[in-house]
Amino acid sequence: MVPTKELDVVVIGAGITGIGVAYYLQANGISYKMLEQDDDVGGIWNTQRWHGARCDSAFIKYSFSFMPYISDKYLQDREQIHDYLRTVANKFSIIKNIHFKTQVTKARFDSREKKWTIYTTNGIFYSRFIINGNGYFSAPNIPTFPDADKFKGEIIHTFNLDAHRTFDDKNVVVVGSGSTAICCVPELAKVAKSLVLLQRSPSYIYEIDNQATRTTMICQNLYKIGIHFPLKILRYYLQFKDDMIFLIFRRFPRFARWIFREHWLPVVGVETFREHFIPKYQPWEQRVCIAVGLKEKIAEGKIKIKTSEIQRLTESSIILTNGETIPCDTCILATGFHFNLLKFDLYIDEHRIVDFGGVNYYKGVMLGGIPNYFQPIGVLHSAWTQRSETATKYAIKIMKYMKKNGYRSVSIDRREVNYTPAITPNYIMRCLPTLPKIYGSWELPSFDNIFSYRFNPANFNFL
Ligand SMILES: Cc1cc2nc3c(=O)[nH]c(=O)nc-3n(C[C@H](O)[C@H](O)[C@H](O)COP(=O)(O)OP(=O)(O)OC[C@H]3O[C@@H](n4cnc5c(N)ncnc54)[C@H](O)[C@@H]3O)c2cc1C
Repeated sequence: MVPTKELDVVVIGAGITGIGVAYYLQANGISYKMLEQDDDVGGIWNTQRWHGARCDSAFIKYSFSFMPYISDKYLQDREQIHDYLRTVANKFSIIKNIHFKTQVTKARFDSREKKWTIYTTNGIFYSRFIINGNGYFSAPNIPTFPDADKFKGEIIHTFNLDAHRTFDDKNVVVVGSGSTAICCVPELAKVAKSLVLLQRSPSYIYEIDNQATRTTMICQNLYKIGIHFPLKILRYYLQFKDDMIFLIFRRFPRFARWIFREHWLPVVGVETFREHFIPKYQPWEQRVCIAVGLKEKIAEGKIKIKTSEIQRLTESSIILTNGETIPCDTCILATGFHFNLLKFDLYIDEHRIVDFGGVNYYKGVMLGGIPNYFQPIGVLHSAWTQRSETATKYAIKIMKYMKKNGYRSVSIDRREVNYTPAITPNYIMRCLPTLPKIYGSWELPSFDNIFSYRFNPANFNFL
């Protein structure tokens, strides 16, 4: 039933961000309801059901600090992550505060009353604050190819691909070179007649064996018997290591390229390496793709790689600009999504905010000129929760300060800030003008989580 009385907080989205938010709201005695357009929790871990869908961040870092996920694997598959999020939602009774099949269509802040009215497909909600966890992926990015209408086979985006499907009698071509393509192809190769990974240009790929290390296992076993601090230290250490690798690879790209060369040359040989494994960009300008089982499938000849642009499609093949023809019955587009941080109409009184383009985004929590609104964003080049959790706790500090001091509204001023995204993959570059500008942190969680999220009331306007 839709509550008619005013809530402290409406949380939008029951993905990993929203569930983390709900946990911290409950832990601090703040009332809330969560609105989710789907019929289950999990966000992208509920909707991305293609072959090989998984996390490529170490799951010790990606799982919540308040409920580490214990596993002998380093990375987790989509199903495990989805189950984990359901378990968190059930264990902390978050589930009973979620209104499923409730899509937010519009939210309006009344600056006189200092409250939000939230319009949904399932009624109207009122709250003092919004915490938005509506995610950042929206519609699938579907490129168009000349003569696609002549193609007799199937063209399907990974967003619509179900991992239960098999392609035993099909020549499958996967188009893409990002994380989705690299996660997907080793698994698809197991269920396809033949598989070609077709990339316009190569990405940096690093293969791991996906086994938890001995240290991880020891820390996890200690956690199980109630000794929690070793796992906490390990979580911090893994983040610190990631941040150092990020900094060193960016600062010393030749050294980084040498590491990738040493990693792939023995498996694929000089010619293949030169043709398919040397990206046009520098290491860590985009997320590094983490592969599991790719080397084996390439060595067995189960995955062929082609690097070229698509010139056109025929009835049963793809013609490349380098003159090659690839037989194709099923063309799977691992071409990512459009990036969109705002999935409903947002109004401050009668003024509509169309997108967040250029808006100052303080510490990835508050946007300039939008009162009583928090949107805790995660890290794009590391494990998402390493910032989304910290940003959430920061929002709660602000709300608690307001309660203590009797304030009803908080905002930060709109202002110009300099911002260069930490990484520049295509999905970010495609929508750069619509992105807010994050400032107030270094975008390096191991440092930020200690130094950048000290709350100073002087940085906010309270009324
Ligand atoms: C295949 C894949 C692999 C990834 N791997 C990693 C990784 O290894 N490490 C990493 O850090 N990140 C990874 N990411 C990025 C990932 O998006 C984030 O880690 C994180 O899951 C984002 O969570 P979220 O809750 O903010 O958003 P989402 O998971 O997108 O959840 C948003 C929720 O909000 C709901 N919603 C949206 N709009 C509305 C509305 N108007 N009304 C009501 N509900 C709404 C959606 O239905 C959804 O449930 C990956 C992404 C993908 C797609």
